[in-house]
Amino acid sequence: MKSFLDQNFLLKNKTAERLYHDYAKDMPIIDYHCHLDPEQMAGNVNFKNLTEIWLKGDHYKWRAMRANGINEEFITGGKSDWEKFEQWALTVPYTLRNPLYHWTHLELQRYFDTHELLSPKTAESIYNNCTQKLQKPEYSVQSLITKMNVEVICTTDDPLDGLEHHQRIKGGNWPVKVFPAFRPDKAMNADDLKALNEYIDKLEAIENTSIASYEDYLITLKKRHDYFAENGCTVSDHGLEQLYAENFTGQEISAIFNKIRLQKELEPIEVLKFRSAMVYEFALWDHEKGWVQQYHIGALRNNNSRAYRETGPDTGYDSIGDFSQAMALSKFLNKLDSTNQLTKTIIYNLNPADNEIIATMAGNFNDGSVAGKIQFGSAWWFLDQKNGMTRQLNALSSMGLLSKLVGMLTDSRSFLSYPRHEYFRRLLCNLFGEDIENGELPNDIEWTGKIVQDICYYNAKNYFDFK
Ligand SMILES: [Zn+2]
Repeated sequence: MKSFLDQNFLLKNKTAERLYHDYAKDMPIIDYHCHLDPEQMAGNVNFKNLTEIWLKGDHYKWRAMRANGINEEFITGGKSDWEKFEQWALTVPYTLRNPLYHWTHLELQRYFDTHELLSPKTAESIYNNCTQKLQKPEYSVQSLITKMNVEVICTTDDPLDGLEHHQRIKGGNWPVKVFPAFRPDKAMNADDLKALNEYIDKLEAIENTSIASYEDYLITLKKRHDYFAENGCTVSDHGLEQLYAENFTGQEISAIFNKIRLQKELEPIEVLKFRSAMVYEFALWDHEKGWVQQYHIGALRNNNSRAYRETGPDTGYDSIGDFSQAMALSKFLNKLDSTNQLTKTIIYNLNPADNEIIATMAGNFNDGSVAGKIQFGSAWWFLDQKNGMTRQLNALSSMGLLSKLVGMLTDSRSFLSYPRHEYFRRLLCNLFGEDIENGELPNDIEWTGKIVQDICYYNAKNYFDFK
């Protein structure tokens, strides 16, 4: 029997072990999409205890605790940090076979050198031991990231963000490169006219201009795109249920924009046209600047309205949606490609039933200009686990070129998530290792090792334009 989470975790044979230890393990990390807080990185803060760094904001853990029957008071409520941790420790032994079980113990091992299993019995000693370590300089946010061999981080930022924290990071002497990513979801959210108008008002104030028409809106928003570029941004990101690709005319969008400003309720088709116009416009800007555009599609968010009222968005009440993806995606990409304005693109689907759709769709728009120009992105969110990653890697292998994948990203809000890259690398090496030992791939460790290193690091390094 193998021991739990030892150095050959997830590696089922000698070839997989060699690929991981000799080729994958020491590759630096390029985390080209995550939700880490630039302010905390700029301030190089130390978290005051293990709950603060590990449980706060972690909706994966919160969902597990709720499923385990833990009262919300101990999750997002007013209980003390220790009381919350106690309930988490009580929950962990019940997370067997959920990725949380692996992540939890990988994170305890890699960051804190703690090899005990978390349970009510070990809760107090683990909490005290880790909390003590968190006070030390080598457990500051920057040190934690450096320790994981991270080279590049792209955060996720609203166009209205001033990026002052990014500027502070850049001005410091931390060798990790941190770039913003342009995520304009709020700029096109015509479902909530009050919020959209407030957003437009804020944009007016920031850019010290007045926005009286759709044309003004685009001109002013584009200044933010330019500002992001001046601050090192080379990637955009969009969280969408599906690609919006309804036909529209300039006149229609101008009229819709005027209705938005007057807060006159829009027809669903008008919302769709507005979104289609905006997402297309952003894609043109991304192409103009040679950015990489990313689309995270397929989440059905805020399903529980009671919980939404009480705890707000991103607190663990989202799930996988079953939106139809292929037609709109085809139409959107084709429209851009037909005028030669399709930039490098990564598409991440949340519904695993869409894996093959995305894998084959990407192949329609590769044009020989850049290797892997249109990427079927790594398994994301609910799929960021053993089964989900394996399915994504297999679909991509069968229908595209796995060897050109730009690899893994954390997509995380937590500073302790970097072992997700290790997890991905182990699974990747295991897939190749098993094929080699089964005689399905040649026993050429050197070549396969090079491919593994490309997927873990070099493909991303070449694909993105990080300076
Ligand atoms: Zn994300």
